[in-house]
Amino acid sequence: MSPQGENTRAVGLPTGPVPAERPVRMPVYRSTTYAFDTSQEYADVLDGVRAGYSYARIDNPTSEAFARALAAMEGGGPDAAVRGQAFASGMAAISTTLLALTSAGSHVVAARSIYGNTYSLLDGLLRRFGVDTDFVDITDLDAVRAAVRTQTAVVFTETLSNPTMTVSDIPGLAEVAAEAGAVLVVDSTFASPAVCRPLEHGADLVVHSATKYIGGHSDATGGAVVGRPEPVAAVRAARIDLGPCLAPDEAFLLHRGLETLPLRMARQCATAAEFAAAVAGHPAVARVDYPGLPGHQGHELAGALFDAGRYGAVVTVTPRGGRAAGMVFADGLRVASIAASLGGTHTLAGHVGSTTHRQLSDEALEAAGIGPAAVRFSIGVEEPADLIEDALAALDRCTSDG
Ligand SMILES: *Cc1c(COP(=O)(O)O)cnc(C)c1O
Repeated sequence: MSPQGENTRAVGLPTGPVPAERPVRMPVYRSTTYAFDTSQEYADVLDGVRAGYSYARIDNPTSEAFARALAAMEGGGPDAAVRGQAFASGMAAISTTLLALTSAGSHVVAARSIYGNTYSLLDGLLRRFGVDTDFVDITDLDAVRAAVRTQTAVVFTETLSNPTMTVSDIPGLAEVAAEAGAVLVVDSTFASPAVCRPLEHGADLVVHSATKYIGGHSDATGGAVVGRPEPVAAVRAARIDLGPCLAPDEAFLLHRGLETLPLRMARQCATAAEFAAAVAGHPAVARVDYPGLPGHQGHELAGALFDAGRYGAVVTVTPRGGRAAGMVFADGLRVASIAASLGGTHTLAGHVGSTTHRQLSDEALEAAGIGPAAVRFSIGVEEPADLIEDALAALDRCTSDG
């Protein structure tokens, strides 16, 4: 054979060796495709006869490592065979799950307080495909029971919902869903497995925006679905067809985030509790929504379902006055940044009425239990005293400005 030309040699440069020793951290596998020794081996991997990797949208070792790690954290009891699937975003995980579990004529019962894009997905896109959703007050189990029908395929809720930090009665909802033959899907983004593991309380599937607490540093976008093997297999099949696979670089960051999730969450929950109690005493404050405070709707439920002493790290502070008072409060903060999202190491704050819930009138906000002046805090890992001093100073400004 004649000597190979320079370009043939260039694209065929050696890639090895693949280390025989187990790397302590999961490497980033960027390769989109894998080479086989024979056509039969390739066919066997595609058919699932043999475990292996063929193409990155189907499976990627780094993304799979993240999904497995999260599944291990979500647990589901000692005998549970819990599986996970990784996604490009939280909405990718949620939309793929809903598409996998429903078909034209299916019915969904969902919490009225769910995340805005989950709401619009159910209320818009999915209705066009013949999937009908009833939105209910998820804290009222009788209302949920009254809403389910024979066609109900999914009951959808959130462990903690935004911005009032409403706690879902997961065991109660699991019972209603089981009676109806529906799958209970719980978005546990605001809790994370370091606060609550819904599978242990009867949920069938848990979905996450890993962009928040799991990544934990506001630098990676991703999502995941975790649960029993059968529904997860259906979600995986839909993921392969729809294509929202998690990129390996993001998977690496999210996998690394899981390592410090319990450490961060313990700190952030403790600071949030201290912060909630301190700001509640300020004369300019009308109301503080935090499940760690006695008197909050979910205080007792959280005590039963959440890890001891952890009530999440989102605190909603409502100053006296209207929308303007809330904006003055948020704009007066110096340690916390005004920004979307939550779950990072840095404290973020946002005036609810002009941002996440801007489409709602004052009356609609009040009907949803949200004051027009409400400011949501995602508490980070800063020194608690610095955050409290910052908020109290901004509240002083709020009072003096009217
Ligand atoms: C952010 C968020 C989502 C969507 O996640 P993305 O990663 O932004 O797609 C879904 N549910 C909840 C509760 C969220 O906070």
